[in-house]
Amino acid sequence: MRDRTLCVKRPEISHEGFASLAIPTYRASTIVFDNAESYASRSKRGPDGYTYGLHGTPTSRTLEASITALEQGQRTILVPSGQAAITIVFLSVLMPGDSVLIPDSAYPPVAGFCENFLKPRGISYRIYDPMIGGGIADLIDSTVKLIWTESPGSTTMEVQDIPAIVAAAKARGILTGCDNTWATPLYFKPLVHGMDFSSMALTKYVGGHSDLLMGSIAVGNIALHRRLKDTMRMLGIGVSPDDCALALRGMETMGVRLAHSGRVALDIAKRIALLIPEGLVLHPALPGSPGHESWQRDFAGSSGVFSIVIPPHAEAVLPDHLTAAKTFSIGASWGGTHSLLAPMRITRATDKQAHEGTILRVSIGLEDEEDLWADLEPIVDAIAASPPAFARTA
Ligand SMILES: *Cc1c(COP(=O)(O)O)cnc(C)c1O
Repeated sequence: MRDRTLCVKRPEISHEGFASLAIPTYRASTIVFDNAESYASRSKRGPDGYTYGLHGTPTSRTLEASITALEQGQRTILVPSGQAAITIVFLSVLMPGDSVLIPDSAYPPVAGFCENFLKPRGISYRIYDPMIGGGIADLIDSTVKLIWTESPGSTTMEVQDIPAIVAAAKARGILTGCDNTWATPLYFKPLVHGMDFSSMALTKYVGGHSDLLMGSIAVGNIALHRRLKDTMRMLGIGVSPDDCALALRGMETMGVRLAHSGRVALDIAKRIALLIPEGLVLHPALPGSPGHESWQRDFAGSSGVFSIVIPPHAEAVLPDHLTAAKTFSIGASWGGTHSLLAPMRITRATDKQAHEGTILRVSIGLEDEEDLWADLEPIVDAIAASPPAFARTA
């Protein structure tokens, strides 16, 4: 071979004896075939085979298999974001004339997708109270093809009665899915509870370092896997093997990160709950938090995100306290090693009066608890101050 060919055709090197604990990052667009017949019959390789880099490499398959094992499912697919994990499920199962039920506590862009993308295409949706439980049966008509859940809900932290919702759905042959980003399969396994889809924003706890965007959808059924893969192929969507390698690295430490963040978050939530009026700390592991009994029954632990309802008298001073925070950063995309505060304003479709003011979402990372407490203390003091004024407005 001549020089310019040698620049392209690499010499074979031995892998013998190379046993590494790291996952190799396999990048590929083209997949090559041994002979003309195997190329001609490449579609017979099915959704698990390798045919094109967009549809998976050994690096992405390793991440998929790890998530499948944790979720106790059959297969997992990877998508470019947590939001895409939800939209790809919806696009895979809903046809014009169908409808989907979504909880009022869902990650807000989910309702935006339903309203601005699905509705103009003839797919309708209905927003339900996340605490509805078995009452969901009353909302099921012949158009409903999917019931979406998110437990606990974004910011307002309602833990849903997943077994009751699954029972109502199964009785009518309707598919169910759960956004499992907060708990991760370490603390909750939606598929084991009978859900058809379990999605995660890997952007959060699996990535774990605020530097990658990805989502996952685990299923307990091969036919559903094929439907999801078909949607991905039609849309031309895949994920980068470099991001998969980062996510695999993140997953190795997820257990210890969650144990630490979860312990510190619960400890801080309990400290705050002792100092401010009842019901203002929204943490699934605290009695009185919405759905606490479901959390106790169904979950194996709690992660590092909870919320504080800011009463009207404390709202004015909150921005200054947030700006003054030394250890917390202000930001929305939680689940990393850095603790975050995010003031949120919630609008409820099912109850316009509910959650009218500001809710402060707290994400605990890996810093020392007392440094975090020092930032939160002035906010807690502001909430605890002038309780008579609070009592009048409540
Ligand atoms: C962040 C988040 C998402 C979206 O994830 P992205 O990767 O940012 O698109 C979806 N669901 C929940 C519960 C989230 O917290």
